[in-house]
Amino acid sequence: MSANEAVEKVFKLQEDFENARKEAIALLLKQRDDIAAQLTSLGYSESSRKANAFQRRRADPQKQCPVCGEKGHDARRHKGEKRQH
Ligand SMILES: [Zn+2]
Repeated sequence: MSANEAVEKVFKLQEDFENARKEAIALLLKQRDDIAAQLTSLGYSESSRKANAFQRRRADPQKQCPVCGEKGHDARRHKGEKRQH
């Protein structure tokens, strides 16, 4: 094999790799869409899952609570509390 052929081979393999990668990604995305459609048909909502994940996320400990000014929690801590006036 000449040096030129060896280089050509590398480029060819690189191209094959890219194509294989794109194909695998496309197949996975298709699978994901199919699964999402099935989940939706069962009444599962992707957006509600994200909302729950957001609510479960811990508050930034450095951020002050906009309600009472303490650090370590945010306004959600006061959700449902009676307003103190
Ligand atoms: Zn607070």
